[in-house]
Amino acid sequence: MKKILSIILAVALLAVGAFALTACNDDNDKIVMYTEAGFAPYEFVGADGAIKGVDVAIMSEVAERMGRTLEIKDVAFDFITQYVAESDGYAVGAAGMTISDERKQSVDFSNVYASSTLVIISAEDVAYDSVADLAGKKVGVQQGTSGDEIISYASDAANGGYTYKDGENDVTVTAAGATVQKYQTYALAYVELVNGRIDAILMDKLPAQSLIATQGGDQLVIKDAADLLQEDFGIALKKDAPAELVDTINNVINEWLANGNIAAYTDYFTAVDNYEKNGGEAPVAPEGLKLSWNV
Ligand code: GLN
Repeated sequence: MKKILSIILAVALLAVGAFALTACNDDNDKIVMYTEAGFAPYEFVGADGAIKGVDVAIMSEVAERMGRTLEIKDVAFDFITQYVAESDGYAVGAAGMTISDERKQSVDFSNVYASSTLVIISAEDVAYDSVADLAGKKVGVQQGTSGDEIISYASDAANGGYTYKDGENDVTVTAAGATVQKYQTYALAYVELVNGRIDAILMDKLPAQSLIATQGGDQLVIKDAADLLQEDFGIALKKDAPAELVDTINNVINEWLANGNIAAYTDYFTAVDNYEKNGGEAPVAPEGLKLSWNV
């Protein structure tokens, strides 16, 4: 009887082992893309419920070239670098992420695939156009973003404000007495602005234009934050990520910058986002622009 039991046990263990191995193999076949899907045209939830955008196109192409499936996880922006840093190496942060020294302490970045200007959205009659203008104001940001970091330091003028390098020079901007309101999504910040509960939002230009175009905002304007530099976007990777993943991402970025695809996807997904929320004429992608992947 004992023998029979141990045989049954052995068979059961084998089955569990085989199952674990299969599950493990499945894991080895995918790339996880962490993002925050409220950042059109880089990532947004389409009318069909699927997340789409420039970052999704880049990572879909990468996954297809590597013969892997792409799993997109929509999470709070603030956690993306941590999730990537703690991953098995086949997870990336593709979220219009600004390359920064602080983030480079925990993750690596791909080549630059886009540049961005930070803008201020505010009421037409005040039209703030610099971080300095935000002194004493209530400023909304998405938690954990570069806008959050900048206004949080700038508002703390007593501790030196926000300092960055412009070439060789240190530049300091302050917005003494600004109150920073942190939101999980830009859409939430936007509702607060429209309802007059905050004075301004500091964020990236294209997603700001998308908010105004798709959520309404007749009395609002977008102005470049004139006292800041441009920011560069990269895909966040685990430090020492597998070379094949790093190389494939950089190859796709290099090719798509050279052949104009990044610009084409940016325009196309801007139009799709606008069309899906406002109607009008359905955008037509330029001929040859790939829109479906085997991932
Ligand atoms: N570019 C900004 C940053 O990296 C915002 C990105 C985002 O909100 N998805 O902090």
